[in-house]
Amino acid sequence: RHDVVIVGTGHAGAQAAIALRQRKFEGTIALIGDERDPPYERPPLSKDYLTGEKPFDRMLIRPERFWDERGITLLLGRRVAAVDAQEHRLTLAEGGVMEYGALIWAAGATPRRLACPGHDLSGVHSIRTRADVDRLVMELPAASRIVVVGGGYIGLEAAAALAKLGKRVVILEAQDRVLSRVAGEPISRFFEAEHRARGTEIRLSATVAGLEQARGAVRGVRLADGRLIDCEMVIVGIGIVPAVAPLRAAGAVGENGVMVDAHCRTSLPDIFAIGDCAAHRNIYADGAVIRLESVQNASDQAATVAKALTGAAEPYDAVPWFWSNQFDFKLQTVGLSVGHDQAVLRGDPSTGAFTVVYLKRGRVIALDCVNNVKDYIQGRSLVESRAEVDPGPLSDMRTALKELFP
Ligand code: FAD
Repeated sequence: RHDVVIVGTGHAGAQAAIALRQRKFEGTIALIGDERDPPYERPPLSKDYLTGEKPFDRMLIRPERFWDERGITLLLGRRVAAVDAQEHRLTLAEGGVMEYGALIWAAGATPRRLACPGHDLSGVHSIRTRADVDRLVMELPAASRIVVVGGGYIGLEAAAALAKLGKRVVILEAQDRVLSRVAGEPISRFFEAEHRARGTEIRLSATVAGLEQARGAVRGVRLADGRLIDCEMVIVGIGIVPAVAPLRAAGAVGENGVMVDAHCRTSLPDIFAIGDCAAHRNIYADGAVIRLESVQNASDQAATVAKALTGAAEPYDAVPWFWSNQFDFKLQTVGLSVGHDQAVLRGDPSTGAFTVVYLKRGRVIALDCVNNVKDYIQGRSLVESRAEVDPGPLSDMRTALKELFP
């Protein structure tokens, strides 16, 4: 029996264990995950780990000896198959049971797969784990033409990395612009232009009908309009599915992931959920139930649980932030732009440094900053206070955002 069992060795699970020890939690902690590697950072997987510029040991969340030193029992390569919430017991897929005092479910998500014929051919990849990228990289020498399905962050970052490696890349996006789910139109158009300028083809409003094969390996992508794009590799980046089946089977409430309250408690006794799999009411989304897929959310929810378990409960109300690197551009986002009724462009995208400020009923709800750290830092307070600002001076890059702070 462990006082706390954490399922998932990703950002959320690792940070929960770290935060508990930082808060002087003295009970026993077990951190269990089905990956073979000790906790590591995922963002480089689609960026400099894919290009080979960042070695794996520089992605570790903590040095390997850390877990042992802090009395955290790290169990790798183990999958939790079932949860018995009444008995406070877990069953492992490899056999064996574990008892817990409190359970922290930090199992993240798995990549959504294509539903069309050929989705499971060899040469079809997704990017979620180190093992995914290692497999993909092994096949790269034999792939000169690569199709990326999905123009979200991961698809675009992977496309940028592959273009850098000299591959011919085609991005297929079902919507009429890339990043449509997460960013405003000026941001989408900027990144589309930058990818095209480096030889990548982007097809918008493109739907995949099926994958074509030769001897079991993918050789092309057939679009709904009948056209065929030849390729030796397909990378699918069309979103993720929260990994919550054992918790749902145990009775946890939730539709898209598991629902948690402001202290990350699920509907089951002594079971918390954090990170990509946790649906919560977010004040920066006007109290709507959402899941956030970011390092910020994983770390801040981990801190929330650690506080709840050490008798200093504080509700989760962190401002969402995110980043994405493509080529030499660093996109930094603060707040949530979904639901904005006005987007104000600051600066000139052709200079490679600009900002989009999102307003709702005259108040700042989010910023997307491209190579513009100053706006990102100063804009954060505008988002936190939902500042009411005049769009006129906002659009003028010569006016510093901090001057607009009411
Ligand atoms: P995960 O990190 O997915 O960890 C969950 C772990 O639980 C996994 O190891 C999984 O295998 C394991 N698991 C699942 N089910 C079980 C089970 N039943 N038993 C045992 N173990 C289980 N965010 C940013 O903010 N900025 C970025 O630039 C950025 N880039 C990204 C690039 C890529 C390629 C990816 C994949 C993600 C990126 N993210 C980025 C998102 C960020 O990495 C995630 O939001 C974060 O990893 C979520 O942490 P988590 O702990 O909730 O889930």
